[in-house]
Amino acid sequence: MQAIHDLVRDVPDFPTPGVLFKDITPLLADAAAFAQCIDALCEPWRGAPVGAVCGIESRGFIFGAAMARALGAGFVALRKKGKLPPPVHGVDYGLEYGRDRLEIGQQTLAPGERVIVVDDVLATGGTLEAGRQLVERLGATVIGAGVVIELDALGGRSRWTGTAPLHALVRY
Ligand code: AMP
Repeated sequence: MQAIHDLVRDVPDFPTPGVLFKDITPLLADAAAFAQCIDALCEPWRGAPVGAVCGIESRGFIFGAAMARALGAGFVALRKKGKLPPPVHGVDYGLEYGRDRLEIGQQTLAPGERVIVVDDVLATGGTLEAGRQLVERLGATVIGAGVVIELDALGGRSRWTGTAPLHALVRY
């Protein structure tokens, strides 16, 4: 995990003052580290039947799509408000500052389908929890979640209300 840790760049005051942005683009650009990252995200689910990986817009798409390919699962995009064609389900959630809305296409998951929710960063936890709620809205089963980075100080893990495991590769 050290290689992954070392390839995440801290960018102070981006995109707004006071935010320490975790830039994963150096990690994506490093072939060996990116492969190691996808392998590690998939590790808990090897051998388990997985119907779909749900990636959260936008960096969750990158990790989620690669995981779906590696696990032989489908990929479903959880998108910000207004990006998906109807019909959609939506969940509103709180951010550190303000509110946002995450949506899923109504016909993307089957009832009982086994799903993993994926994002790049777990900060205050609202986004990942909204993803979990959306999957369950369609009657699918969240078997777990994966993030590359967990920001411990923001306490996002406590927002994850499911009993399914939440795996983080590196923690700050
Ligand atoms: P939250 O809902 O607070 O857990 O925020 C998680 C979402 O916001 C993820 O989709 C991240 O991509 C993004 N995010 C939040 N904080 C950061 C950060 N410090 N660096 C990079 N991305 C972040």
